[in-house]
Amino acid sequence: MEGFLESVRYYVARAAQQLDLGDRMEHRLLAPRREIRFECTLPLDNGERATYIGYRTQHDDARGPMKGGIRFNPAVTADEVGALASLMTWKTAAADLPYGGAKGGINCDPRGLSRAELQRLTRIFTDQLHDVIGPNRDIPAPDLGTDSQTMAWIVDQYARYHGWSPAVVTGKPLEIGGSPGRDAATGRGLVEVMKLVLADRQQELVGTRIAVQGFGNVGSWTARLAAVAGAKVVAVSDITGAVRNPDGLDIPQLFRHVEAAGGVADYPNGESFPGSEIIAEPCDVLVPAAIEGVLTDANASDVQATIVVEGANGPTTPAADEMLQQREITVVPDIFANGGGVTVSYFEWVQNVQRYSWTEKRVNDELRQRMADGYRRLVSEAKAAGSSDLRAAAFRLAVGSVAAATRLRS
Ligand code: NAD
Repeated sequence: MEGFLESVRYYVARAAQQLDLGDRMEHRLLAPRREIRFECTLPLDNGERATYIGYRTQHDDARGPMKGGIRFNPAVTADEVGALASLMTWKTAAADLPYGGAKGGINCDPRGLSRAELQRLTRIFTDQLHDVIGPNRDIPAPDLGTDSQTMAWIVDQYARYHGWSPAVVTGKPLEIGGSPGRDAATGRGLVEVMKLVLADRQQELVGTRIAVQGFGNVGSWTARLAAVAGAKVVAVSDITGAVRNPDGLDIPQLFRHVEAAGGVADYPNGESFPGSEIIAEPCDVLVPAAIEGVLTDANASDVQATIVVEGANGPTTPAADEMLQQREITVVPDIFANGGGVTVSYFEWVQNVQRYSWTEKRVNDELRQRMADGYRRLVSEAKAAGSSDLRAAAFRLAVGSVAAATRLRS
């Protein structure tokens, strides 16, 4: 995670320098507005008490209320939350959503806690934060180790202080104001991005060979939707291993295997191979959709794809990014490519604020339109700079718009 933190700072600082924003603005954009650390002490089911440390970093609100997930994970630290909060500021700005960035978490292992304990912990977390979150201040969402049930408990606890305000969080169950289409949104956005990049090359998704690292929410939806659209998903990996089939894997069947067996390993209708080798798989589009730091200077020269679409946050180190640029591989950066999730979170918030629900078709249509508009902005920004580096373009757009809002409000 330290490498990830450094790469976000590196890209922001580089964009600030390219935009000639000056040291004072660069420093201001990098520094979080508020960092909160608090104790969460809860009674356990066995009568003992446990204390965990909770964090919320509110990085920037120049463009609107802050937005960012809450993770329950033993590895949560103030630094990790800080880096992810900053990334959310740039992601919401790159997607032109009227939000800033935040992130939070509790350093607990949710697998070791009962449902009742998790509920108590979530309510304590909300007690600690209810004054500084809210539909017009800071809007949490699920992340590692949290889900729509966690969001439902936050809605309920927040309502005890402030009345019924489902817009305080996104990623809620449909019954209490969640949005149709949220679950698939990040994968759907990634598939839209693939179509846009291919269309620029006069190519189509039909028949395009795709390799996907990670088969969780993002990876499995990407694989499923790409396959439905006619792409050949030739390889998939997860923590348990990898499988390939040059003629295209049967993704619905693989999905059922993963549900039953817990991972892609041992899927019978494909050839198994070591997961680490998926980066070098022969394919047209590589989608890293698992964890950060998987494309490094040690393996970037092995990439055979001509397009990399970043599903995970921070999958490519700056050194690998440089190598991929030199090899003229198109890299669509995380802060834009995986923005489908936060975009549909925005649609959920809009529906809650307006008290008016959309159909799933409307959600998907508006997501497609926003991804297309965002991609055009990105490509024009890169072209204007005489470059094909979409990551540098995305950070310039994001950092430039946050800096402009900051100046206007100062
Ligand atoms: P998830 O927990 O649902 O799935 C993660 C997948 O990665 C699993 O299949 C797991 O087996 C696999 N994995 C873990 N370690 C691996 C390794 N070393 N090698 C290969 N595979 C490995 O998580 P997710 O929600 O799909 O998120 C994946 C990434 O996308 C994360 O970086 C996350 O921050 C990012 N992201 C997620 C969303 C979203 O809407 N869920 C939105 C934007 C970005």
